[in-house]
Amino acid sequence: MTAESAKPPASRRTFLAGTGAAAAGTAAAALLAGPLAGTARAAGPVCPPGQFAPVPQSALGPPVNADGYFVGQIKGDLYWVTDSFYTAMFLTTRDGVVLVDAPPTIGHNLLRAIGAVTQANGRPSQVTHLVYSHSHADHIGASVLFGPDVVRIGHSECRTLLLRDNDPNRPPPEVTFDEHFTLTVGGETLLLDFHGPNHTPDNIFIRAPAQQTLMLVDVIFPGWVPFKELAVSQDIPDWIKAQDVALSLPWQTLVAGHLGRLGTRDDAELQIAYVADLIASARATMASLNPAPIFQEFGNNAWAIFKVYLDAASAQAAAPVTAKYLGKLAAADVFTFDNAFEVFEFVLRVDGGVLGPFGIHP
Ligand SMILES: [Zn+2]
Repeated sequence: MTAESAKPPASRRTFLAGTGAAAAGTAAAALLAGPLAGTARAAGPVCPPGQFAPVPQSALGPPVNADGYFVGQIKGDLYWVTDSFYTAMFLTTRDGVVLVDAPPTIGHNLLRAIGAVTQANGRPSQVTHLVYSHSHADHIGASVLFGPDVVRIGHSECRTLLLRDNDPNRPPPEVTFDEHFTLTVGGETLLLDFHGPNHTPDNIFIRAPAQQTLMLVDVIFPGWVPFKELAVSQDIPDWIKAQDVALSLPWQTLVAGHLGRLGTRDDAELQIAYVADLIASARATMASLNPAPIFQEFGNNAWAIFKVYLDAASAQAAAPVTAKYLGKLAAADVFTFDNAFEVFEFVLRVDGGVLGPFGIHP
């Protein structure tokens, strides 16, 4: 996910107004003039900011403190920390702290949270190990705060990507693995597993078996619909499968990397149902949406035909799913259009081979 998602809505709105991106939205609306414009505009990306449905209380986590963070015990020596946009977790052991991810928006509050917890439980506060869920800067961009001596651990592809990115805030992991790694520090254990690419080619499953906890980032979003375009994931069919892999593992608590609360197995099941409903709705849309008027209207402008067709299809596929999940999953009205686009484009079209009007010519 991009760092952009971390910005509070108000400043993002200001930013959009300042750069004229709001005007671009108006231009997109004009493009949609035609027989399908009504549907596309109603559920599409041109919805004015500030007119979204309220966030259900069930989606929200505990309030953050004056420093802007909340830290809580999951079970035993396992803790989680959030700024309500991002989450990380850490194990306090008799030999030091094992931290999983270092989101820059939490930043120095990671050190404050770890300091407060270890002061209370009498364990050493030094972070000795830092596990990377995946290479993205919005989840590990504060890695630099833990100095050159912390043992950084991640998937081998994570190292490859970070060597490419060459970002001083994200030193590549020195300890890497391909399939499985058991990390034991001071009597505490984390199980690190790679189950194939999903959100990224290096995104791993991190389990604390004694605490019945799974950390899996950018796949399941407890209480909320997935971030735009199914968490801007690089492999959509395998991202969808990763939801099921998560449920196949034994855990009771999920640390999902985003938003402000922990997750449950019910949260995972609800998201799986949402995605399944989106796929079913996209299939029905592919079968029922008549593209002929769009081809007629936009003539030789191939990109306009693709855009208007895909926008109309996304709007039609999203509409019943948004209606069904409003009040059950926060921001169903914010990102279901973009998530429907992703399903239409990848699950159906390019990875599924269900091409509709762009299939094999008769
Ligand atoms: Zn990511």
